[in-house]
Amino acid sequence: MSFSSDAKAELIRLPLERDCCVLAELSALTQTTGSLGFQGGGRFSVSWQVENAALARRIFRMLKERLGLSPSLHFVQHARLGGRRTCVLTVEGDDAPKLLTALRMMEPDEHGAPVLKRTLPRPQITRQCCRRAYLRGAFLGAGSVTNPDRGYHLEIAARDEGLLELAEKLLAQHDLPARHHLRRGVPVIYLKGGQEIADALALMGASGALMKLENIRITRQMRGAANRASNCDEHNTERQLSAAQQQVEAVKLIAIHRGLFTLPPALRQMAELRLSHPDASLEELGALAEPPIGKSGVNGRMRRLNAAAQEVARELTEAQRPTNANP
Ligand SMILES: [Zn+2]
Repeated sequence: MSFSSDAKAELIRLPLERDCCVLAELSALTQTTGSLGFQGGGRFSVSWQVENAALARRIFRMLKERLGLSPSLHFVQHARLGGRRTCVLTVEGDDAPKLLTALRMMEPDEHGAPVLKRTLPRPQITRQCCRRAYLRGAFLGAGSVTNPDRGYHLEIAARDEGLLELAEKLLAQHDLPARHHLRRGVPVIYLKGGQEIADALALMGASGALMKLENIRITRQMRGAANRASNCDEHNTERQLSAAQQQVEAVKLIAIHRGLFTLPPALRQMAELRLSHPDASLEELGALAEPPIGKSGVNGRMRRLNAAAQEVARELTEAQRPTNANP
């Protein structure tokens, strides 16, 4: 499985959230994978077509458990697409107006009878809790993320520009500025940069994918830091700042791959202090230690933490080599 499909599988397994969030996620999934059918006599149907059976089950549960609807599910085998199977979920009959009203595609007229206003949902995401759910739905329906071994790129591609505009706005509210382009006529918004993609995965709730991405980022940063350390100038403030950042990354690397519990108590305490006080000077960290120690004591412990992290980074690099040789 690719990094992208792993991340999606993880999001699909998340429990359904509050009703407002389920509706936000369902709106995005409908904007990306749904279509409205006209059945004559003012009757409608809504269908979702997805290749991922687990995603179809998630949509099914939303409709059934949260909206009390009875969707039908069938499979279409595509002879021309190498026998690929698509899951088709359909809501029709009396259920359709209920669904369309919930998705704000239908609104009651002056007599209270539902009237079709739009052919796609136009959700208004006002609550903070629903932002992540909406972005998750958009990503599940029309998104992908590149394997971080090959580069940092997360995108959502959709013909529905309303979806992209809203997704972009919600990302911006989390300080994640999306860029745009057109790919074969289809608008795409995307994020670049390891930190942005890590934040977006965290926002959507993909903690396993986030961890995997962070491991790769930390290993890269450690390699970079080791190269820079060979020609460093100790009295440069910027460099002192990056030394603190490097210590934080070193501690994270040990925490993720070995666990801080594997460290001797004195080192473990210093590791935890560095994580909880990333900007503190060595003197300040020493004063926070129990019992307090001087700057040179802190410095010695930091060197041992760095050495342990370098060892972890080396192990990771070696472990990754066969995978990279055979993509
Ligand atoms: Zn919500």
